[in-house]
Amino acid sequence: MIKKLQDLQQHIQQEKRKYNHLSATRMYELIQAYVKAQMQSAPIHQSERKLYYISAEFLLGKMLTSNLVNLGLLDEMQELVQKEGFAWSQIQDEEMEPSLGNGGLGRLAACFLDSIASLQRNGDGIGLYYHFGLFEQKFENNKQVELPNRWIGKTSWFTKKEVNYRVPYKNGWLKPILYDMEVIGEHGTRNTLHLFDVESVDESIVHDGIQFDKTAIEKNLTLFLYPDDSDEAGRKLRIYQQYFMVSCAAQMILEEALQHQWDLRHLHEHVIIQINDTHPTMVILELIRLLQKRGLLLAEAIEVVSGMCAYTNHTILAEALETWPYAYLQDVVPQLMNIIEALDVMMKERSKKASTAIIDANRNVHMANIDIHIGKSVNGVAAIHTDILKQSELKDFYALYPTKFNNKTNGITFRRWLSGCNTQLHHYLCDLLKKDPSSHPEILKELVKYAHDETVIADIMAIKQEKKMEWIAHMKKKQQITLNPYAVFDTQVKRLHEYKRQQMNALYIIHKLLQIRDNELPPRPINIIFGAKAACAYTIAKDIIHALLCLQELIAKDEKVSPYLQLCFIENYNVSEAEFIIPASDISEQISLASKEASGTGNMKFMLNGAVTLGTNDGANVEIAALVGQENIYTFGKDSDTVIAHYANQDYVAKDIYEGSEHVKTLVDFLISDEMLRVGDPVSLTRLHHELIHKDWFMTLLDVEEYIVCKEKMLQDYEKQTDWGRKMLMNIAMSGFFSSDRTIQEYDRDIWKLS
Ligand SMILES: *Cc1c(COP(=O)(O)O)cnc(C)c1O
Repeated sequence: MIKKLQDLQQHIQQEKRKYNHLSATRMYELIQAYVKAQMQSAPIHQSERKLYYISAEFLLGKMLTSNLVNLGLLDEMQELVQKEGFAWSQIQDEEMEPSLGNGGLGRLAACFLDSIASLQRNGDGIGLYYHFGLFEQKFENNKQVELPNRWIGKTSWFTKKEVNYRVPYKNGWLKPILYDMEVIGEHGTRNTLHLFDVESVDESIVHDGIQFDKTAIEKNLTLFLYPDDSDEAGRKLRIYQQYFMVSCAAQMILEEALQHQWDLRHLHEHVIIQINDTHPTMVILELIRLLQKRGLLLAEAIEVVSGMCAYTNHTILAEALETWPYAYLQDVVPQLMNIIEALDVMMKERSKKASTAIIDANRNVHMANIDIHIGKSVNGVAAIHTDILKQSELKDFYALYPTKFNNKTNGITFRRWLSGCNTQLHHYLCDLLKKDPSSHPEILKELVKYAHDETVIADIMAIKQEKKMEWIAHMKKKQQITLNPYAVFDTQVKRLHEYKRQQMNALYIIHKLLQIRDNELPPRPINIIFGAKAACAYTIAKDIIHALLCLQELIAKDEKVSPYLQLCFIENYNVSEAEFIIPASDISEQISLASKEASGTGNMKFMLNGAVTLGTNDGANVEIAALVGQENIYTFGKDSDTVIAHYANQDYVAKDIYEGSEHVKTLVDFLISDEMLRVGDPVSLTRLHHELIHKDWFMTLLDVEEYIVCKEKMLQDYEKQTDWGRKMLMNIAMSGFFSSDRTIQEYDRDIWKLS
């Protein structure tokens, strides 16, 4: 145990004397041990009411810097490291990033843990300890290749704990192991993240990238996050995983309740469970089952559990709303079936509408419908998203339970997304505003006073330039790519999905490439930057990555184009890469089809770091626009009502747009031009080309022309540098609303009632 800073310094000197040398690895290990000891000695916040935030994902990112920020030790540790001759980035590089999430939903859970602890609320996270998390992405032959991401190393923030739980399945039970991580808040109290693993897990069954035997449940249960569920074995494995998670959660909650001697019939007075999307839904069923075993009647158990559970909806994409065939559930968790049946009958008495059924006419079980019927709260994650839930997606439920519905616009923790990843901007703002905006986000509004102060504007722009230089050096080292640091940085980083429309950005790139070849040169070079993983079984998403990588190669080899336009695809986009690129970006691409992006949180990170949004009126973009005003954001595209009407009337025909516009036709056809086919795979490129013309489910061609016009305007405006700097300033100034501290205060005020 290294308890004090002097102890740490002593250890460092000892090692240096002993080995005549101190490696970055050893330095990291010593600092990590010191920080972990600090966290373990922090007091736990106790109270008569406790939150359990259950989530299949916690996309934590590296924890060293973030923990130091919250302990208030970052500056002195950076100083110490520098004195020993290391760059801070060298020490950070030593930590493996746990990739226990896909994207926004998992990152949200991680931001929430940070804010819950920092606001000194009593709340723990519960999830799964995936040994390989989400896959690691490599590019080969302009295609994505998936590799296992083994993030568990010698030094870990997690501590192994024994638990005496058993998780029953149809064919016997599995024994869990618990891994706990301290979550330290900025005022020195701590909560815990509990991740469950299965004792019999066996890493050696993984072969050929990320293949494994999907039927060997006792060995594979906690190997990967969301294994490919395109077949039955994959779908059943997800049910096994979800039940494992929630059964452990339910057993832990009841165990803690008994320790506190809380009366189980009044458990809802002491416990609140936030269900992050539908993955943890079975916790409702499992708690009802366990309460019945402890003597409650079914009706009593339902009543108690109803008062304890609240559900967050993250999507209106039909394919993402989970339903399981009744037969699959019966095969995996037969002990829950009588409860599902009972709830189904009771709820059909409340509402005869097919849309609200728990078990539908095809014998599929609708997980969200269980959450909405039984839970006490249903929330969307941005104002427009909650409105769409109430008015279209869940309107029959809204009629049934109007008071359950509420909005909680997402947020991000400024301690990571400002203090941690942009120390220059953070220090500058602290000095200027005389208060720390990471702890007091509302103070950022005072920046507005400086909107006409050219010195402040120049300072903020100088910091942006510094962050660009840092990122360029990073990319040179990581991907051996040389980029122009004086270009405008136009960035789209997020999961790859058709609704997010990276393919529309690809069409812009083609437009710009053809213009440059035609001697229509941009006033300044443009770097278009991507980062995105595609789900393994999502063919069209992989086709889009392939098209972008082909364009990257083609542009890099084109001596006429590359001085003016560069495309850079960041390999293996994750939290660490996000922390690097976001502070360096000028343009934040948020171009989802209106109505499809529930909130987005990437948009908030960019705003806080002084990038200007180029976006549709979707998700939290709408709230960003309302805060900064139309002169500080660039919006385009059809609105959500128009889009929803197209789906309802089934009257969107991509081919009409393709055939009606020579320009659009040229851009789309470039995908299968000879030069693209020379560097790419004809099957993949042709499939994407065909998809855009004959299906285009997410309406790329509907908005592409407006998008191009809007981006051109933005690039022109970028040349008025002081005006642009003012837009940056205004975005930073108005970003305080998007602190996850604000979001958590709202959850607590309206749903959790912890304080
Ligand atoms: C914030 C974040 C996301 C979410 O980005 P969106 O643009 O909101 O989809 C995804 N991945 C990582 C690594 C992030 O940090």
